[in-house]
Amino acid sequence: MTGPLSPLALLDTDSLIADDDRAMRDTVRAFVDDRLRPEIAGWYERGDVPVRDLALEFGKLGLLGMHLEGYGCAGTSATAYGLACLELEAGDSGLRSIVSVQGSLAMYAIWKHGSDEQKDQWLPRMATGEAIGCFGLTEPDFGSNPGGMRARAVRDGGDWVLTGNKMWITNGSVADVAVVWARTEEGVRGFVVPTDTPGFTATEIKHKMSLRASVTAELALDGVRLPPSAMLPEARGLSGPLSCLTEARFGIVFGSLGAARDCLETTIAYAREREIFDRQLAAYQLTQAKLADMAVELGKGMLLALHLGRLKDDGRLPAPAISVGKLNNTREALAIARECRTILGAAGITLEYPLMRHANNLESVLTYEGTSEVHQLVIGQALTGESAFR
Ligand SMILES: Cc1cc2nc3c(=O)[nH]c(=O)nc-3n(C[C@H](O)[C@H](O)[C@H](O)COP(=O)(O)OP(=O)(O)OC[C@H]3O[C@@H](n4cnc5c(N)ncnc54)[C@H](O)[C@@H]3O)c2cc1C
Repeated sequence: MTGPLSPLALLDTDSLIADDDRAMRDTVRAFVDDRLRPEIAGWYERGDVPVRDLALEFGKLGLLGMHLEGYGCAGTSATAYGLACLELEAGDSGLRSIVSVQGSLAMYAIWKHGSDEQKDQWLPRMATGEAIGCFGLTEPDFGSNPGGMRARAVRDGGDWVLTGNKMWITNGSVADVAVVWARTEEGVRGFVVPTDTPGFTATEIKHKMSLRASVTAELALDGVRLPPSAMLPEARGLSGPLSCLTEARFGIVFGSLGAARDCLETTIAYAREREIFDRQLAAYQLTQAKLADMAVELGKGMLLALHLGRLKDDGRLPAPAISVGKLNNTREALAIARECRTILGAAGITLEYPLMRHANNLESVLTYEGTSEVHQLVIGQALTGESAFR
């Protein structure tokens, strides 16, 4: 009999990863194990995470806007970025969210759609973590349907004046800059809003049962006056914010697997130690059936993620494919976290083990960046040519 195999070694998915990407992945894994893992349960329990300190540390590691070129960004492959998300989320989905929102949403919006002046002003400091960004699209009454947004930007002289509310905004109350999407006479446009602009307030949302190691806030924009240069010149209509969501969804395709891997590794180690009816829990067929099914789903999810990574690195990733990855990998990761919890019995409900923490986090991951239902509708539309959104 050979010794136990780690779940992802079953399919040897590492052999599909380039040497450089694997080295970077190992660096992030070591950082998560040494620096984040010892603290995470406490941050989660207190609902208090040192975002500013962590952003500087993530910046030093080159994780912020890491797949973007220039402006101090690391310019890695998309696959490397995905693998970094996986390792961070093996620590906690909230920690991965800090990096996703900074790099894929706030920085990407400026990098892709911003003016040279906006890029020079914000991107280098965001890459180091000195400046924190947030991304305000969702509103209290418009989540899955951002096209209904009520936030407005009207011209007043040469200025823009923004009014409205944004809800569930990650990093909102710790951000230095907010990318805010608002309706104008010419359709939805994006604005780069320094958070110390008069009329901008951010209030942290408390009492979350999920993503407790991540700051979530409501933004209020009460006549926020901005110069004409605050508008993102290259983003017109909803395709602007949706292009950023596509980036963030890609990170989640990988990230969610990190949470699942952590659950499965924890559970296998526990089941090998735990004795029940005088035998190892891991030696029972019922346990092994559960572990085998979970490892199969994890391996399939990893193959899917690496396939999407390769397509993205080749510049030919079809939009519905992201929905396939986001839908499958978050759904399966959540199922794995819940199933692992059953194997730990009562111990599984505590913060001593990461299972309930990951499961609770994955409820948010299932909902943000397009709910499962929204991704089913995207895939359904691709398959039938019929939109069933309304
Ligand atoms: C922790 C956290 C952090 C977040 N961070 C950010 C952020 O940084 N920036 C940001 O802009 N937003 C953020 N969000 C918001 C997130 O994107 C929204 O929650 C998400 O888009 C869903 O919107 P909603 O919550 O309003 O749900 P709703 O849109 O009200 O959906 C409710 C239910 O209806 C379903 N549904 C929707 N449309 C259809 C349909 N056509 N047919 C059938 N069912 C449908 C949904 O799938 C869902 O099950 C965050 C959310 C969370 C939980």
